[in-house]
Amino acid sequence: MPAQRNITVIGGGVTGLATAYALLRDGHAVTLLERRDDVGQEASFANGGQLSYRYVHPLADAGVPRESVSWLLQAGSPISLRLRADPHQWRWMLAFLRACNSTTNARNSQILLQLALRSQDELTRWRSEGLKDFLWRQPGKLVVYRNAAKFRKAAAGISNPEREQVLSPAECARVEPAFAALAPRLAGGIFSPADEVADCYRFCLSLRDAMAAMPSFTLRHGQASLRQGTNGRCDVLVDGRTHETDLVVLAAGMGSRQMARAMGFDLPLYGLKGYSLTVASPAGTMPDVSVTDYDNRVVYARLGDALRIAAMVDIGARDNSINPRRIARLRDLAAKTLPRAGPYDTARPWAGLRPATPSGVPIIARTRAPNLLLNVGQGALGFTLSVGSALRVCDLVRGNVRGDAAPLTNAT
Ligand SMILES: Cc1cc2nc3c(=O)[nH]c(=O)nc-3n(C[C@H](O)[C@H](O)[C@H](O)COP(=O)(O)OP(=O)(O)OC[C@H]3O[C@@H](n4cnc5c(N)ncnc54)[C@H](O)[C@@H]3O)c2cc1C
Repeated sequence: MPAQRNITVIGGGVTGLATAYALLRDGHAVTLLERRDDVGQEASFANGGQLSYRYVHPLADAGVPRESVSWLLQAGSPISLRLRADPHQWRWMLAFLRACNSTTNARNSQILLQLALRSQDELTRWRSEGLKDFLWRQPGKLVVYRNAAKFRKAAAGISNPEREQVLSPAECARVEPAFAALAPRLAGGIFSPADEVADCYRFCLSLRDAMAAMPSFTLRHGQASLRQGTNGRCDVLVDGRTHETDLVVLAAGMGSRQMARAMGFDLPLYGLKGYSLTVASPAGTMPDVSVTDYDNRVVYARLGDALRIAAMVDIGARDNSINPRRIARLRDLAAKTLPRAGPYDTARPWAGLRPATPSGVPIIARTRAPNLLLNVGQGALGFTLSVGSALRVCDLVRGNVRGDAAPLTNAT
């Protein structure tokens, strides 16, 4: 057991909560700072619910720039781009384009896979130790492809056939009968039987409640900010007042970038906006396994009695307001794909900003400030990677891993 330290985690989303919980389990005293009245109110609120441990390929890949151009020309496509006179947007997009090649994608997929599998192992442990129910299930995940070339490429990339099974359209329909009507239009599918689903917001609440019962935990609400202190250290302020701590973990999703700027460095984070619908569908009409409709980039997960449908990447959105055209498009896609699983007109809409790095790999690292660690940038996989990312922070705190400072550019 390492020596106990007073550690402050900034951000009460799934990343910060999992980090705080892992640090408490490691014997530290932890304060979690959250600006909202409760935890899990931002990107972690109504995401796709997929714990997609085996399908972790980053968005940046060979062929994506060309495909994106055709998407950008189509109304209602999965990706939309609003160019801004914002150097940060341009820098992020250039770095994204640089990561769009198969070598970088393969390397980053391996990094994410290791983090994801570590997440799954540790979450099994946490669940067995009595976290409250968060609608967790292990139904497996089926990625269905309509386009034959994309299916062939995905099937060729499978490294472990036990973990990921290549299925014909008929086999897809057997694995998930709710998609049987779609089978004639499918090229095939890839099934990961060990993948899971759960409600991310409920997971946030179960972590909050489990920690509330621990004497060395404090949840403090207020607007956190950082300031350069003495000897290169970082001072934490809450609502403008100094907050004493030994060590700080910045895990505040999209809010992290502004805080890091006060320390003089620029985090390569960009908010990729996505949407979800939650539908109270009749029993027997929803898919049981979690499904990704690859060509439409829509994910479906049954969470208890409801179906969660999530999709879209809007680049250049500044806030998480709901664009009625985008949510109508999502409703339309879901109604065409699973017509019996409605009623879609009563579905609850939601939008959130995925805190994304250009490469898709999160930044979990020391910084040049000796008391500041980062745990940010989990992007489209923040729920999946939350527990593994938290363990990685524990490694850094214990000094178990090489702790080079993250190579961040200076804030301009
Ligand atoms: C449509 C959509 C679908 C998705 N589907 C999936 C999925 O199926 N599976 C998956 O693994 N991931 C999915 N994701 C991604 C996942 O939801 C995010 O990666 C994850 O929620 C990010 O968590 P976070 O804790 O880093 O950020 P957040 O949840 O945004 O939490 C950050 C917290 O920090 C707080 N904060 C910010 N600034 C300050 C400050 N100055 N002081 C104090 N507190 C502050 C905020 O209030 C917030 O509570 C999806 C995302 C979207 C948008």
